[in-house]
Amino acid sequence: MTAQVDAAKPSPAGPTEVDWVAAVAAVRQLPAEGRVLLICHVNPDGDALGSMLGFGLGLRRLGVHEVQATFPGPPEVPEPLGGLPGLDLLVPAAEAHPEPDLVVCFDAASDSRLGELADRLTGPGTALVLDHHASNTGFGDVNLVDPEAAATSVVAEQLLERLGVPLDPNIAECLYVALSTDTGSFRFDATTPAVHEMAARLLATGISPGDISRRVFDSRPFGAVRLFGEVLGRARLEPEAAAGQGLVWTYATLEDLDRHDQRPYVLEALIDPVRCTAEADVSCVVKQTGPDVWAVSLRSKGATDVSRVAVALGGGGHRLAAGFTGRGTVDEVVEQIRAELAVAAPEGGIDPQG
Ligand code: 5GP
Ligand code: MN
Repeated sequence: MTAQVDAAKPSPAGPTEVDWVAAVAAVRQLPAEGRVLLICHVNPDGDALGSMLGFGLGLRRLGVHEVQATFPGPPEVPEPLGGLPGLDLLVPAAEAHPEPDLVVCFDAASDSRLGELADRLTGPGTALVLDHHASNTGFGDVNLVDPEAAATSVVAEQLLERLGVPLDPNIAECLYVALSTDTGSFRFDATTPAVHEMAARLLATGISPGDISRRVFDSRPFGAVRLFGEVLGRARLEPEAAAGQGLVWTYATLEDLDRHDQRPYVLEALIDPVRCTAEADVSCVVKQTGPDVWAVSLRSKGATDVSRVAVALGGGGHRLAAGFTGRGTVDEVVEQIRAELAVAAPEGGIDPQG
């Protein structure tokens, strides 16, 4: 690794000027035929893919020819993201350059989120990390990590600007998908004036927010609608859990997916109707990915730090949105969550004295 600056845990205040200068230099100093490999986290969401592809298209505009984008695991793009510009940059993980001159990672808090591609960070090239997780371990040579940023695409847009790449509709669409998915369509608290200003810059390129939102958020196969009905029908509310803040949870098995002829990605949206439950601060969806293996999504409305629960159980995420891989039966996984929720509310939740 050619360390440009010392790898260290990123500052909570976000990237320093030194970090930005190092990141710009890492791109500008690429050799003429330099190879760039972009990697986002396993099971990529809108922010991971959108920030990666938007940045990749920007590199192309800069004249970088050898740009590959990839992510660990099966090379399948979730259907709602199947219309993103720049998908032609994608290669299966197995075909990614073994020794790129520059590796850029997107939306991954640690190299463990990069699966079999984590070894690309230890090659001779420079490793640049773009992220917005407060828990980011600073695993790059240069780390652009801004915990205040609503999405990794905020960091990507800033870097493109510093590189002098103008926004075009394709870049903008990728960054818009990333920004709107991570802000819950501009509903979460991370939706600052700066987020709307960025959205305005993206929309000014002429992209269509109606078409994009319909594709990304409001379109799913009828089988998935029926599957959701079944899975929501078995949701449980536990008002006394999470120190009295309430827990609502449900689960979906591989057999459920099979029965409705659906692919796992459809379950990503399932947390949204579950977390509507007014009586629970914490919501949870337990999604089977293998025998006794479950991808767990956790959300909080504000009283509970679910990232503490996720980290305690081997995962990570943000205060209000986190996840981990659970093992055992559904009941065992949920019991672990209940136990951690009891610990994760040391203040006893909201102080009744106000
Ligand atoms: P989701 O529930 O949408 O899959 O994930 C919510 C957030 O939790 C993501 O932004 C990601 O930061 C984090 N997350 C989800 N699953 C995992 C996991 O297995 N490991 C880690 N480290 N973080 C996760
Ligand atoms: Mn993100």
